[in-house]
Amino acid sequence: MTTEQCDLLVIGAGPTGLFAAYYAGFRGHRVAVVDSLPELGGQITAMYPEKQILDVAGFPSIKGRDLVEGLVTQAATAEPTYLLGRTAETLVHDEDGVTVSLDDGTDVRAGAVLITAGIGKFSPRPLPAGEGWLGRGLEFFVPSFAPYAGKDVFIIGGGDSAFDWALHLEPVAKSVTLVHRRDAFRAHERTVEQVKASSTRIITKAEVAALHGEGHLESIDITVDGETTSYPCQAVVAALGFIADLGPIQQWGLEVQKRHIVVSPSMQTNLSRVFAAGDINEYPGKVRLIAVGFGEAATAVNNATVAIDPGAKVFPGHSSEAG
Ligand SMILES: Cc1cc2nc3c(=O)[nH]c(=O)nc-3n(C[C@H](O)[C@H](O)[C@H](O)COP(=O)(O)OP(=O)(O)OC[C@H]3O[C@@H](n4cnc5c(N)ncnc54)[C@H](O)[C@@H]3O)c2cc1C
Repeated sequence: MTTEQCDLLVIGAGPTGLFAAYYAGFRGHRVAVVDSLPELGGQITAMYPEKQILDVAGFPSIKGRDLVEGLVTQAATAEPTYLLGRTAETLVHDEDGVTVSLDDGTDVRAGAVLITAGIGKFSPRPLPAGEGWLGRGLEFFVPSFAPYAGKDVFIIGGGDSAFDWALHLEPVAKSVTLVHRRDAFRAHERTVEQVKASSTRIITKAEVAALHGEGHLESIDITVDGETTSYPCQAVVAALGFIADLGPIQQWGLEVQKRHIVVSPSMQTNLSRVFAAGDINEYPGKVRLIAVGFGEAATAVNNATVAIDPGAKVFPGHSSEAG
């Protein structure tokens, strides 16, 4: 068993956790960040790295992956210890600190813990006909577009991710077909209009019946009104949403309301030395946005600083005066 020591352990390396890591460094803490995903960036990296984000202060428009890159660069000043591909399983707190155990057997001992676990550990909603095809032509995320060049791509789903990926893959792929089981879409109206105006073929009231191929995917069967048609297809992107699971966090003795952790205005949970910020927390008037998570991260880290060192001040002074 390995034991990591730090002043502040951040659980979740999404935008909130990454900014919290920077801020912990600014407050002079040794910081560790754990995430069950193998990559940094949380929902942005997993679900919309190529999407333009329009509501982050100071950036009129920024691509998801560029925002994450900036956050990671900023966090690097804190020299965080990243514990990626590992899930925080248990949390035990005592008078002097908190011990969090990870699913690989590592124990992390910290002066305080900040939970920035977003919507929890998430996994994509499966495509029933796609069982056994993951990595052989079926994917749930589109982290980069280049692998789709020259391919007949089928995107399954009717939400924002499905339409965004259709829009972005259309200029790259040989052909793009969007398949949805209803004829109404949940995606942003403007994106739907853009996709309809492109060369993307849209098949509605349709279901994927089967995938075929020797080793790698070669064709797809689509059923409409009981009639099944086979199309050439080398890539399927199943954008059917995801199942979020707070998982072990619910067993930690935290006050939870509708799958969110209740916090005070200082981002303190009902457990001493344990704070929560970003999508995962709940208080009256809560709004789930990246910009809000950044503010909460600063509040949480500054208040956690007092939990770690009772002689410290909550207000850190301005960073512009630090140099
Ligand atoms: C398609 C889409 C588009 C969006 N567009 C915008 C937008 O334009 N503007 C905007 O402000 N917001 C947008 N959002 C919302 C935004 O992405 C979230 O508000 C933001 O990601 C929340 O950040 P977070 O750091 O709190 O949580 P997350 O990004 O969810 O990160 C939490 C991390 O915690 C990890 N984790 C969870 N449980 C554990 C555990 N037990 N152990 C270890 N790790 C764990 C997860 O793996 C995850 O990486 C969008 C969301 C989606 C899905």
